[in-house]
Amino acid sequence: MKDMLAKAMAGKYAIGAFNILDYNSTKAVVKAAEEISAPVIIQTSAKTVIFWGSEPLISWVRELAGPSKVPIALHLDHCKDLNLIKECIDSGWTSVMIDASAKPFEENLALSRQVVNMARPKDVTVEAELGAIVGVEDDIHVKHQDAHLADPEQAIQFCLQVEPDCFAPAIGTAHGVYKGEPEIAYDRLEEIASKTGIPIALHGGTGLANEVFRQCIALGCAKVNISTQLKHTFIDEFVAYYNANSTEYNPLKVMGAQFDKLKEGIIEKIRLFGGAGKA
Ligand SMILES: [Zn+2]
Repeated sequence: MKDMLAKAMAGKYAIGAFNILDYNSTKAVVKAAEEISAPVIIQTSAKTVIFWGSEPLISWVRELAGPSKVPIALHLDHCKDLNLIKECIDSGWTSVMIDASAKPFEENLALSRQVVNMARPKDVTVEAELGAIVGVEDDIHVKHQDAHLADPEQAIQFCLQVEPDCFAPAIGTAHGVYKGEPEIAYDRLEEIASKTGIPIALHGGTGLANEVFRQCIALGCAKVNISTQLKHTFIDEFVAYYNANSTEYNPLKVMGAQFDKLKEGIIEKIRLFGGAGKA
């Protein structure tokens, strides 16, 4: 993932990181990237890894991404559990995220550094988080009032000591569905990105306006996470197909419809982030 992000940063575009749910959605990510010749990140939440197990997941990704001509990374999203991080590194994930952002600064720093030490000898990329990104993600619930943005001075200290390959500072985006206009702290993003030189991951990508994406990418976001959009498409398309064909009971057609819709949405996002043709 590190090489992909370095190229993206230099080229002022971002790599889409899409949270997959099953084989079908993994295939949709790969086929979308291939169709428009884009590098892409397949992202798994910790819950998804626990649900399927790391072995089935890695076998799907190897089968789909192995022969692919576009660069594809496999990334573990928000993980607090060092054992699961180790399992993913050992199983073949090419990138992991340690999310110790709920811990006090020093503890977050130590845990994140520990993961870098674990991952680097295996050439696995590490993403670390600072500050609280609001919303709901796996078991990490951050109440709005508790949410705090990443402090630029702390962020620089954190990056100097942890040396993550990718950094996720809280800059005002949220996970889940936006209930109002998000207030993005562009000034902090710019300061953190320019002073650390580390590619920034934009979390809470679903529902942001196109202009917000463009601005964040211009300021240093090289990875954009899209999760909620895929969850919604997955469920909505199932329901829509059933409602339109309620007597059919043909699961393969339902999965086909889900695949098409997922792929379409992924292509649209990759294009928006400027990744088309960059493979
Ligand atoms: Zn996130």
